[in-house]
Parts: sequence; C-alpha cells; structure tokens
Amino acid sequence: MTTPYILIVDDDRALLQALPEALRLRMGALDIDTCESAASALKQLATHDYDAVVTDIKMPGMDGLAMLERIHSVRPDTPTLLITGHGEHDLAVQALRGGAYDFIQKPIDRDYFVASLRRAIQMRQLRREVEEQRHALERHAATLEQVVEERTRELREANEAKDLFLSIASHELKTPLTTLKTMTQLAHRRLLKAGAPEAQYLGTMERSIQRLETLVHDLLDTARITSGKLTLRREPVDLIELCRQIVAEQHGDNEHEITLVPQGQLPETLELDVDRDRIGQVLTNLLSNAVKYSEPGTAVRMSLTIRADDVVIAVEDHGPGIAPEHLAHIFDQFYQVQETSVQAGSRIGLGLGLYISRDIVERHGGRIWAESKLGHGSTFSLALPLVRRLAPVEEGAPGTTSAVRS
Ligand code: ADP
Repeated sequence: MTTPYILIVDDDRALLQALPEALRLRMGALDIDTCESAASALKQLATHDYDAVVTDIKMPGMDGLAMLERIHSVRPDTPTLLITGHGEHDLAVQALRGGAYDFIQKPIDRDYFVASLRRAIQMRQLRREVEEQRHALERHAATLEQVVEERTRELREANEAKDLFLSIASHELKTPLTTLKTMTQLAHRRLLKAGAPEAQYLGTMERSIQRLETLVHDLLDTARITSGKLTLRREPVDLIELCRQIVAEQHGDNEHEITLVPQGQLPETLELDVDRDRIGQVLTNLLSNAVKYSEPGTAVRMSLTIRADDVVIAVEDHGPGIAPEHLAHIFDQFYQVQETSVQAGSRIGLGLGLYISRDIVERHGGRIWAESKLGHGSTFSLALPLVRRLAPVEEGAPGTTSAVRS
C-alpha cells in the first residue's frame, strides 16, 4: 500500500498541530495536509485526491452538512470523518445519513479515531485499486476488440481473395481442358482404329483428363455457390427413374454390389420439379463416395422412401464410418477426413462434393444429412419436399402415377 494521504480541517489551531503528530505516532508514515477553513479545504480537495478527510463539523463560514455535500460533489469516493462536539449527536446522525464515513466525538477517543481512520483509508485505497483494475480491464477489452476486428477483416479479405482465385483459376482451366479432352479423344480413336499399341497411353491420358475435369467442375461449382451464381433449371423429373439411372451408371464399378431398394409401396413414377443434372450430381456423389471409401465386395444400397411431406433418398455403405467429431464437418468446404483411405476407384477429390451437394439440396428446399457408426458404415440421406400431390397414389394399383410438383 502507498503512504496514506489525508486532509485534516479544523479551525482549532492547537488541535490542527497536535493531531498530525498523534496520528503519525500511532499509524506510522502518513502524508497530512491541514486547512483552517472550509473554503481552503475545498480548494485543496479540487486538486488533491486524498485517501480520507477529517473535518470539524462546526466550521465558521460553512455548515458541516453543507461542507460534507460539497466534499461529496468534488470527491464522491473520498471517505469523510466528522469531528463533532459533545451533544451534537443529532447532527452526527444527519451527517451519516448524508454520506459521512464516520463521526468522532470530542473529547477524541484516540484508539477509536485511529481504527476508524485506518478502515476509511483502507477502503479508499482498495476501491482505487479496484477502479484501476477495472480501467485496465476495459482498456484490455478495447484492445482485444480491436484485434478481433482487425483479424476478422483480414480473414474476410483472405477469404474473398481465395474465392476470387478459385473463380479465376477454375474458369481459366476449363477451356484448355476441354480442348485437351477433345483432342485426346480424337487421337485415341484414331490410334485404336489404326491398331497402334500407343492407344493405351491415350486411354490413360483420357482418364486423367476426366479426373481433372471433375476437379475443375467442383471448383467452378464452389465459385458459383460463393458468388451466388449457382442456378437451378427445374423441370418435372421422375425421381425413381433418375435413381435407377444413377445406380446403373455406378454399376460400371464391378467391385461393389450396388442396389436400389424401394421402401414400401412405390408408384411407378414420382415426378418432382427439380434440376435433373444437379440432383443427379448429388446422388452420383453420394454413391461414388460410398464406393470410394468402402472395401471392394461390400454392399452399397440406395433406398427411396415416400413420406407425408417429402421423399427421402438414402445411400448406405459398410465402409469405415465417420467419427462424430468429423461427422459435424464433412459438409464444410474442403473438409476431408485424413485417416479415411480410398478403397476403390480414384483418390482424386478436394473435399468439395458434400459441400456442393448440400447447397444443391438446400436450394431445392430440402436437406441432407449423414449418420455413421465408426467401423460399421455410413448412411447419407437427402429429403426433397413433396409440395403438391397432383394425383393420389392408389395402393398396389399397377401403373399408378404420382405426379408431384415442388
Ligand atoms: P471428397 O470425397 O472429394 O474428399 P466429399 O465432400 O465428397 O469430398 O467428402 C468429404 C469427406 O467426407 C471425404 O474426404 C471423406 O473423408 C468423408 N466421407 C464422405 N463420404 C464418406 C463415406 N461414405 N464413408 C466414409 N467417409 C466419407
């Protein structure tokens, strides 16, 4: 603690001389100012932050209560001890109500006086410390806020630069890649026709170009999503037929047993207003992930269920599964589970397929989610809303058509 600094105000000169000495003797180091009048005391208080003020309640020129009020208005946190004459009990009570810290009755009981003054000084110094700490905390909070704002701005700028780069890079890659693909296909066909053994190299080149094209398309779609330019071309699409087609396309992979399983009674056709290519892209992505991450020989199943308000398409595999801490993020941009290894097909991927799939499904007013048990497999499901049922489904009736518009 710093040396206490106090002000003693009394028009009794003898007391004003004796009191500081007596206090120092009992309390040790003390800085003490003294004043003989209320006016000079108020002047001192205007420029000095005392730890306590000790003042006679009866000062010539100013009533003790008025003096207390003035002290409070100038230094609201400085405790004031009032010295009262014998028989001024009522005045003392009034002073306490008016905010005085304590009152000391004449003749002064020195022990009581010293104890009270010590408490007053301690209280003031502690409050000042708390106040200083509060200020320091406020300054620290303000600095932190500034740092957070700056970092947020930097991150936003970096993110915008990344989006711009992705957009430019994917657009610039697309055209030469298309030319390369066309020329390679042409050369491949010619070499095959001529029976040249080099044809196999071009076959490998074509497959590599195909993979590059997939990557570039994913980057382009991501750039379209972030710039809000991914649009849907909705048309009536038979979802059952679309599922059959996607499953048949994936059958090219002979290493998995891929099946389409209807859940319950399905109509022959199920028409929904959707973007055929985009929903096809989502289903292909889910199926190819199921094939890509699960061991050859295991079963992959696509199921279709019509519920009251929506149709749910689920893709189930018996692959490695996804741990809960990853499951929460797999629909995020560029998210890949590093420990999950590709079991079949191409390793190529940027962790964008599910991100794009989610965006496409949500643009259709639907939702997509994943359930998984580590070591047992995963099920990815998407629900698309059946907004208006145009023709009711008759159970078991052959050739029934359900036309649904979303
Ligand atoms: P990519 O397959 O190109 O890495 P995706 O966005 O399609 O990107 O998938 C993100 C990640 O989610 C994958 O890298 C993989 O770790 C995990 N994942 C997706 N599907 C499955 C699945 N069926 N089984 C296990 N992990 C999967």
